[in-house]
Amino acid sequence: MKKILVAEDSATMRSLLVETVESLGGFQAIEAASGFEALRLLPREALDLIITDINMPDINGLELVSFVRQSDIYRHIPIFIVSTEGSQRDRDKGLALGANEYVVKPFDPRQLQELIVKYLP
Ligand SMILES: [Mg+2]
Repeated sequence: MKKILVAEDSATMRSLLVETVESLGGFQAIEAASGFEALRLLPREALDLIITDINMPDINGLELVSFVRQSDIYRHIPIFIVSTEGSQRDRDKGLALGANEYVVKPFDPRQLQELIVKYLP
């Protein structure tokens, strides 16, 4: 079972992401309701992929990406940003910090599933 961290503060959006991840089969979603919770879960779970929102209380998604990419232990983990911030600037910032993919909300579940399988075949 591959583990995917879903960091998203909106409960509705989080359950949508969890459902998208788990309906693929073979993937378990680990939920974090904030960036801080995501950081707390990093050492506890052997994560295969991180999916993160940008706008969250405490630590935001861009800070999370930055932390993971600067860590010798976690830097190899693929990261997808899923955010309503569809502007070119946020997209560029996320990718420059080391996110692998940038998916704009409202997201197409099938497109997200295809990306997950692409990174975790
Ligand atoms: Mg949010």
